[in-house]
Parts: sequence; C-alpha cells; structure tokens
Amino acid sequence: MAFIEALTCRECARTYPAEALHVCDYCFGPLEVAYDYEAIAAQTTRETIAAGPRSIWRYANLLPATNDGAVDLGAGFTPLLRADRLAAELGLGELWVKNDTLNPTGSFKDRVVSVALARARELGFKVAACASTGNLANSVAAHAARAGMKHYVFIPANLERGKVLMSAVYGHNLIAVEGSYDDVNRLCAELASEHPSWAFVNVNLRTYYAEGSKTLAFETAEQLGWEAPDHVVVPVGSGSQLTKIAKGFRELAKVGLIEEHDVRVSGAQALGCSPIAQAFADGSDYVRPVKPDTIAKSIAIGNPADGIYALDEVRNTGGAFAAVTEGEIVEGIRLLARTEGIFTETAGGTTIATLARLAAEGVVRSDERVVAYVTGHGLKTIEAIGDLGPTATIAPTLEAFEEAVDLEGEG
Ligand SMILES: *Cc1c(COP(=O)(O)O)cnc(C)c1O
Ligand SMILES: [Zn+2]
Repeated sequence: MAFIEALTCRECARTYPAEALHVCDYCFGPLEVAYDYEAIAAQTTRETIAAGPRSIWRYANLLPATNDGAVDLGAGFTPLLRADRLAAELGLGELWVKNDTLNPTGSFKDRVVSVALARARELGFKVAACASTGNLANSVAAHAARAGMKHYVFIPANLERGKVLMSAVYGHNLIAVEGSYDDVNRLCAELASEHPSWAFVNVNLRTYYAEGSKTLAFETAEQLGWEAPDHVVVPVGSGSQLTKIAKGFRELAKVGLIEEHDVRVSGAQALGCSPIAQAFADGSDYVRPVKPDTIAKSIAIGNPADGIYALDEVRNTGGAFAAVTEGEIVEGIRLLARTEGIFTETAGGTTIATLARLAAEGVVRSDERVVAYVTGHGLKTIEAIGDLGPTATIAPTLEAFEEAVDLEGEG
C-alpha cells in the first residue's frame, strides 16, 4: 500500500483518494492509480524482485495492494518461451510466447483478480463480483472461494461449456444472463450502484484490477534479462490489458529497472467483434460499438471500455491492429500447438493469427524481438476447434497398427 499516492483522472487529472472509485465525478474519465515512483525506485531493485515469490506478487511495489496470501492462488510468473519453430513458419526472427495458459484458472485474468480482490479486502469488502466474458468468472469464483468470500459472477448465457462448468464448480453464485457481454456489463453497472458493498472487480474496483495486467510486461522484461522487447502482440477485448502492458514497460524504465526502450504495441481482434481494429483501419478517433459474433468469446466486447486508449497506444507506438477471421483463429490455435506444443483458447488463436497477418504484411519484422501474449488455455474452448480426433482407431493388435499407420522411413 505504501506507494499509492492517489487516483487520478486520465482525462482531466483531478485526484481522488485511493478508494473504490473508478470514474471522475467531473468528466466521467476513468481513474488511474498514481504512485510515488521515487519511493518505489529507492526501494526496488532487480535483486529485491528476484528474492520475491514466483508470482505476480514479486512486483508488489508496483501494484496497488499488498498480498496477505488470502487471494493468492499463485497467479503469474508463467513461462516466456522462445518460439523458433513458429518464427520460422511466419518468417520472423526472435519470437517469444508468453504462455499465460498456465495460470491457476488457465487465463491471464488470475493476475487482475488477485490484485483487485487483495485491494478489495484492504478496503473492507466481503463480497466479490464481476461482469465476465468467461475467464474472469472462472477466476473471481476461484479466488473468492480461496479467500472465503461470497461471490456473484455474471456471464452471458451462451458461453462455452468449459467456462460455465469452471465457474460453477467453486460454488454459488453464477448467474447466466440472456444477452451479450455488453448486456451483462450494463446490468452489473446497475447492480454495483444498488450494492455498493460488493466488490465488482471490473466495475467499482476496475482501477485496481487493471493494474494487474502490468505484470505481463514486468515478467516479460525480467525473463528477457531485464530488457523490453521491440514489439508485442496482445489480444484485445476491453483494451485494458493492452494499455496496461504498455504502461508496465514504461514504469520499469521510470523506476530504473530497465533502460528506456520504445515498445511497439499491436492489437489482435476477431473480425466478428473488431470495433477497435475497425477504428484503426478507418483512421477514426471514435470506437463505434458493434454486436459481437465470434468464437473468440473471451474478447467479444462490442463496446470496449478502454477502446480509445488501446487505439491511442497502438497508434503512438507505431503498432497496428488486425481483425482475423474465424478460420484464421482456428488455424492460429492449431499452428501454435503444432509448432510449439502450447494449446490455447480462441483468444490466443486470435493473437497468433494476428501475428501471422502482421508478419505477412511486414508490420511485425524479422529484425524485431517480438513477444506474443497467449492468454488462455485451449481446454476452455474445445467447441471452437471442431472435429479433431485420433489418427486411427484400431483393434489391439500389431497387425492392425501396422495396417493403419505408415511407418516407412521411421525404422
Ligand atoms: C479478458 C481476456 C482478454 C482481453 O482482455 P481485455 O483487458 O478485456 O482487453 C484476452 N485474452 C483472454 C484469454 C481473456 O480472458
Ligand atoms: Zn476527470
């Protein structure tokens, strides 16, 4: 807690106390956490971080909460893997995959939830809640169970079976809403004002929640030997993750943990829900809301809260957006699995497909050190990849095997 100075409005810079506030009373701009960076720099070194836990909490000095263990399932410190086979397929040079499928509930949302609920507990909240596209529901339900908090998680009724089950298994309450994520989000905004004693991680606690995504940048830099990459490719739903990854690299330079380095930031969207990619393509400053229709449900947000900020970040850093088709998403999932042994859900397929598209267009270049963020596990969206099955189904005999499988040249 030591290092939060205040909350400040992103638009008009008015300041607020570090409570459960998320919008500016004057201009309705989003609030952001402001830190005492001098104090952080004075007390934080590569060595103090290395001596910390192997989780997001090794970066606690740059987060808006302290970890008392209650809402810590071990989120973060996931592998950063050099991806030479994938790079060769895409004509790239130094490519890395941040494998965030390996979080406690199988997605990067464990990072933001652990931070939001740690802060919520400090502020005295006893009930956890969220509006979710699926992964957030999994994570809030799990962390609330771990902390012994009551919870209400809200999802669109048409989610993948795996995500429904994985939210329900942790106990009550999982509420399926007939509508899109944007409908769920609207309902939750109303519920949040009706029930101010509930910690909606991505509504009234959103300011703190968003900060958790910075750890994706912190870990990447540490795992690269305390260097920032040249170009990152990030999946985009609300746009929060993308903007906070960019902020994370800048903060590391600000507190002296890395050299200043320009990081190009590119965003991945599914064509069936690509309001920000569309604004980028149009050269527009307005993100026109859409009605989502895509297998990439975890990033299917038609009216993205941080859309305009994600757009700015991509433009200002010289990155780009792509909007990829359902077929490209499935091929992205299979390409990553086949070349690197990592099985991702549709959001990760969207990232890999975007990487492929931007590499082919020369936007992501072979002389860049590139990191692709693979943010959720493939078992969450098995419906999406269709009809994969055994190479052969055989009787339990040698002859049947030899008949079914061509072993020529393999000895
Ligand atoms: C939520 C989610 C995202 C997008 O995060 P935003 O902050 O909403 O842009 C990306 N990938 C996965 C797997 C997610 O669950
Ligand atoms: Zn304001």
